[in-house]
Amino acid sequence: MKTRVQIKQLAGFCIFSSLIISSLNCFAWGLLNNLRNEDIRRSTLYFKALNNKRIRYCVDIADRSAFKPKLIDVELRTALGIWLEAFELSPILEKVSCSNPMDLVVEIGPEVRYKNVGSYHAALIRKEHLTRYIKLNTDMEHTYDGKTSKIVDFASFYPAQTDLKSNLKGVSENRESVISLSAKISEPPIVVYWSTYRILIHELGHAFGLCDTKENETAFAECDKAWKSEIQPPSVMRETSYFYLLPDDVKGVNMVKQYLSFKLDHSKSAHTKPLL
Ligand SMILES: [Zn+2]
Repeated sequence: MKTRVQIKQLAGFCIFSSLIISSLNCFAWGLLNNLRNEDIRRSTLYFKALNNKRIRYCVDIADRSAFKPKLIDVELRTALGIWLEAFELSPILEKVSCSNPMDLVVEIGPEVRYKNVGSYHAALIRKEHLTRYIKLNTDMEHTYDGKTSKIVDFASFYPAQTDLKSNLKGVSENRESVISLSAKISEPPIVVYWSTYRILIHELGHAFGLCDTKENETAFAECDKAWKSEIQPPSVMRETSYFYLLPDDVKGVNMVKQYLSFKLDHSKSAHTKPLL
């Protein structure tokens, strides 16, 4: 049975536990509380990119008729590239089977655990490896202003599929909003808003260590009190409606780097333990 939830209601819900961090596309900068946990801290994609110089990822698509693996792969690598550029890192992006050890898992399909959640991110131990997990729930319908949409494969309706990567880059450089992009491609904003690409960018921000920002207090509670800004301007990590990083997201990136540099200086074990 499909679930209808208003986007604004969705924004108010996040889950926290000792092993799993889950957050919706709720919605600058702030670092996740769980970065204080040694293992979780070392599982951030920043740490993996910096130390291992590669990010192993896998994509698990339940419905391949609606989501084309090759196009999702381009979206994911492009979204990763946006963050990595801000971190000034260029690790090898290695796609692996989901049965292998990996740093990042992206699953696209029906959601069993959190049926009212459109998408979420979690840090978890999978196959004894510290993994960043992103789930896009394709069972869920989203309504906004009387219109309904499900998560859609951004690449499938973007007109310039032949050169998707460069065009996505263009969207970023031109700072086009969801509204202007929807007009350009004659699709309702709700469809563009609930695209895989936009959601991937936001959830990857969590995978790099950033928390949801001050859209609501519940989401904001996941931010480390000592490592967050008080002023919360628009950002990918607040509004999830951008196809590019905003200045506040870049501030968050710099704070992740400062935070982990500080922690590494005070933790010899982080240098000597094998990196999972
Ligand atoms: Zn979020």
